[in-house]
Amino acid sequence: MPETEPDSLKEFNRKTFADTPDIEDVNITCIDCGSQFVWTAGEQIFFRDKNLQNPPKRCKTCKQAKNERLSAIANAQNTGVKQKIEVAVYCATCGSYTTVPFYPSQGRPVYCRSCFLQMNPN
Ligand SMILES: [Zn+2]
Ligand SMILES: [Zn+2]
Repeated sequence: MPETEPDSLKEFNRKTFADTPDIEDVNITCIDCGSQFVWTAGEQIFFRDKNLQNPPKRCKTCKQAKNERLSAIANAQNTGVKQKIEVAVYCATCGSYTTVPFYPSQGRPVYCRSCFLQMNPN
């Protein structure tokens, strides 16, 4: 008749034989908002399969917010490069010399700032 394993041995086995399917959900405190979120057993297995060593640090909301921040920074850097472009043009309305931060499309009129604002009051 089988003897029941002592809890400490179970714990030992769980830590030693990481391949046992005996993975439990883990509560993690988000480093951004401080709220607790569940790192599910399924996600832990996913992490292990991908050879990821570090458990997640952020809840899903904060992780998404962080990704959005990063892509916003990337976008800002991209547009920042474009904004360094200065193209000399003559205003199609008043004919004054001006520069624009983009390459005007062929055949499209370009306006100086004051004419542009007059046409687009908002
Ligand atoms: Zn969070
Ligand atoms: Zn003008």
